[in-house]
Amino acid sequence: MMNGAQWDSCYDPSAMVKYLTGTVNVASNRKLRLFTCGCARQVWHMLRQKTRKYVDIGEYVADNINPRGYFARAGAFRSARNLLDEYQLMVALTCLDDNARKSARQAAVPGENYEGATAQCNLLRDIFGHLFNNGPNVKQWVDAEVSAIATDAYENRTDKGLIDTGTLSILADSLEDKGCTYATLIFHLRGMVRHHGPVSAEERKQFVLYDNWYYKKSLMQHMRGCWALDMVLGKS
Ligand SMILES: [Zn+2]
Repeated sequence: MMNGAQWDSCYDPSAMVKYLTGTVNVASNRKLRLFTCGCARQVWHMLRQKTRKYVDIGEYVADNINPRGYFARAGAFRSARNLLDEYQLMVALTCLDDNARKSARQAAVPGENYEGATAQCNLLRDIFGHLFNNGPNVKQWVDAEVSAIATDAYENRTDKGLIDTGTLSILADSLEDKGCTYATLIFHLRGMVRHHGPVSAEERKQFVLYDNWYYKKSLMQHMRGCWALDMVLGKS
C-alpha cells in the first residue's frame, strides 16, 4: 500500500507502477501507454529516427482504441522487429506492446539510484496526479475557449514531445476567468507542486498556502497523459 504522501515523494518508479497496476488498479491502458512512451521520450537523444517513429505510433495507439490504431500497432510491431540494435528494439517493442500493463512495468526501471528514476517518477505524478484527491468536476468551467487552448496544448508539443508550459499557463488563466476553483489543478498547470514535510520561515515566504497545503514552483515537465490537461479534455 502507498498513501498520498508516499506517492508524492516516491523515487522508485517501479514501485509506483506496481502500485498502480496492482490491487488498486486505477490506471487506464491509455495512461499506462503514454507513460511508457513518455519514458522513451525522456531518452529521446538515444533513440534513432526509426525508433522515434515507433514511439509516435505507440502514442497514437494510446488515443486511438479503434481498428486504425490496432492495424497501425500491428504493422509497426512487425516491422520494428527488423531493428538490429538490441536497445532500439527493446524501446520500440515496449512502446508498441499490446499489453499496456506489462510494458509500463518494463519501462519503469527498478530502484531509486539509476539515472532517470526521478524523471520517471515525476512523469508518473504528472500522468496520475495526486492519486487520493477527489476534486470537483472540471466540466462546469470548460467552454469553447478553454477547450481550444487545451486541444492546442495537447496537439502542438515541443520537439521533445513535451506539453508547452506557456500554453498550460494560459489554460490556467482561462479556467480561472471561468470561475474555476479547483486549486490543485490550477497550481499544476502553472508548474506548482505540493510540498511535503516541514516548511522553514524562509520557504514560507516563497510558497503558496492553499487548503492546508504548501505549493512551490517546480521545473515540472508535462507530457501527454498529464492529469490536469486530461481532466480538461475529458480524457482518462
Ligand atoms: Zn501536467
